[in-house]
Amino acid sequence: MFYRILSLLLLLPSLSFATELPTASAVPGGIAIIPLAAEQAGKPHVRYIKRKVMVIKNDDQSWSAVIGLPLSIKPGTHHLSVQWPNKKTKQRIAFEVKPYEYESQYLTIKNKRKVNPYKNDMQRIKKERRRSGKAKFQWSAQTPQFNFIRPVSGPESSQFGLRRFFNKQPRRPHGGLDIAAAEGTPIYAPADGKVVEAGNFFFNGNCVFLEHGQGLISFYAHMNKIKVKVGDTVKQGEQIGEVGQTGRVTGPHLHWSVGLNGTWINPKLFLAADDQTANAAPKH
Ligand SMILES: [Zn+2]
Repeated sequence: MFYRILSLLLLLPSLSFATELPTASAVPGGIAIIPLAAEQAGKPHVRYIKRKVMVIKNDDQSWSAVIGLPLSIKPGTHHLSVQWPNKKTKQRIAFEVKPYEYESQYLTIKNKRKVNPYKNDMQRIKKERRRSGKAKFQWSAQTPQFNFIRPVSGPESSQFGLRRFFNKQPRRPHGGLDIAAAEGTPIYAPADGKVVEAGNFFFNGNCVFLEHGQGLISFYAHMNKIKVKVGDTVKQGEQIGEVGQTGRVTGPHLHWSVGLNGTWINPKLFLAADDQTANAAPKH
């Protein structure tokens, strides 16, 4: 595993953005940072697969598009569409996505209903999918903080991107990082943000969605208690809840996801480089 993370880090094209931008890693479930021409006037609007993409102004006044790459993306050439305010036609920019092989994980869930829900659970699940789908696409204009802190102290029990089997049945890959901790352990906001969704969901248990700016979303699941409500603004390091084991779990832990342009990506790309390979490095 360590070797895999190391090889992921070696894909970094440059460390010069390290303090201002997340870590670039153009693999499925990673982030592509695409420099846009500097000479153009004004902030461009950028889209990737028709979705609005984060655009950040660099110190030298040039722009960078920061794109979340879905776990399902095919390695190879992909395209961004860039609309400059002073141009009539859109610019098309190609970028490369490299392959990355995620490991498989087999989990046994005692509560079989959480693997094969009853017919009457499906209505609730569909409703919650709509709510989380909407939350994943929340967008505010401000530039987010990228120097995230770990939301919980504790060992990482499941890495992002694992291909998952519950009771031997294939399910969606793991869209977050699991951090094991005792029930009641405080969960902190990793960066300033706003609570855009919160509730008790069938699979995710008690959960919270934060929006940090330009569609950067973070998500916390299986909580014992939620300590914030929709509409609250939170500061980095402010408590948002407690670790629990609600929803589909094998034990108490925090499931932590980070999303960009509506897609879950590796949360570790928002931690400081020396914290990305650490298995348990509480910062608070
Ligand atoms: Zn998880």
